[in-house]
Amino acid sequence: MISKLGVIGTGQLGRMLGQAKGRGADLRFLQTSSESIVDDLGYEVIKGDVSDLDVLKRFADGLDCVTFEWENVSLEVLDYLQSQKVMMRPNADAIKTAQNRVYEKGLFYRLGIPTPEYAAFNPKLETMHRYLEILDRFQFKAVIKTATGGYDGKGQWRVENIGQAIEAFPKLSQELLIIEKLVVFKSEVSMLAVRSVEGSVYYYPLVQNYHHDGILRVSTAPSPHEKGEIGKLALKYTRQILEQLDYVGVIAVEFFVGYDGKLYANEIAPRVHNSGHGTIEAAKTSQFENHIRAVTGTLLGIPTPIDPSIMINFIGKVDPAEVQWRLKNRLNYNFHWYGKKEARPGRKMGHVTIVGDTVANAIENGRELLSLLVPNKVLGLIL
Ligand code: AMP
Repeated sequence: MISKLGVIGTGQLGRMLGQAKGRGADLRFLQTSSESIVDDLGYEVIKGDVSDLDVLKRFADGLDCVTFEWENVSLEVLDYLQSQKVMMRPNADAIKTAQNRVYEKGLFYRLGIPTPEYAAFNPKLETMHRYLEILDRFQFKAVIKTATGGYDGKGQWRVENIGQAIEAFPKLSQELLIIEKLVVFKSEVSMLAVRSVEGSVYYYPLVQNYHHDGILRVSTAPSPHEKGEIGKLALKYTRQILEQLDYVGVIAVEFFVGYDGKLYANEIAPRVHNSGHGTIEAAKTSQFENHIRAVTGTLLGIPTPIDPSIMINFIGKVDPAEVQWRLKNRLNYNFHWYGKKEARPGRKMGHVTIVGDTVANAIENGRELLSLLVPNKVLGLIL
């Protein structure tokens, strides 16, 4: 029986876990960044330097299980929890795999799941000649990413010709990198699923995602690919990953839908995910509630029926009061403001979900807000 659950991270995902309906456990958070946005929820929040053993001891003391709203926690923290035999759900191997793009791609490769061609490159040990050799294999069209620690497009460089490749070289981060062939894709989709301790799984409908500068801006669900071959492949690949990792909790698998009819796995998130926020209003059981149910060993909640929806992120400098004032008559807009103090560029400040009878109808209802918030390039793909 899990009654005391530790959550690593105090960002918006932790906040929404803390707000989830039907929680059977008391939560204790570990703050891993400079800001905590869960302090007002009434749970214990352990603050301080996570490399300090005393902080970790205070966090781990008396916990039945630990879960993650943020996977890029240091290996020292994972090792400490393992040494204290604290149960982790998902398990530490799943977290370590998701932390490192090279391991992650290796997992896809071993399972026979298509993924963009890639090579690991270490700028400290390897030469520019080797760098150009790799890029040559990809016709100099590539995305270069830090193997660890990157999220929301951070630590990424996109090159499309030899000139850009040479120009990027001195600017690259001096840590292990992964160089991926640039995939020209039709669309981006993600599959969210939840797996229980006994191994039963529920899948949420495939989500269609729209990114700009590596940051998710808008998600619509279900994706038009849901019913076809792509939907079947997404489900098959997600099942393979869950089983291989002996996974417990919610997972999100992000994919590219290629023009060649193939589905390419891009990455996994070993936690609740931004593309699943719509499930709060659209699904019978949200990703947040089901994650807590799974990791506490409670029976999963059936996600269906699930209404079509659109979820729009508030990124960077937005004024909640102004948005709410402009859209005050929109009763069907479900606003979520995360309460972050500083609206830095690229930062996720909140989101809105609009549920409709169809995705087209939800998009139509969100048209005004989309025009206000979403860059034209992305808007053109949605409207
Ligand atoms: P990631 O951090 O891996 O999720 O990358 C952020 C975004 O960059 C993705 O959602 C894609 O829009 C884009 N991207 C990443 N890798 C590739 C790739 N190999 N080919 C084309 N686009 C990519």
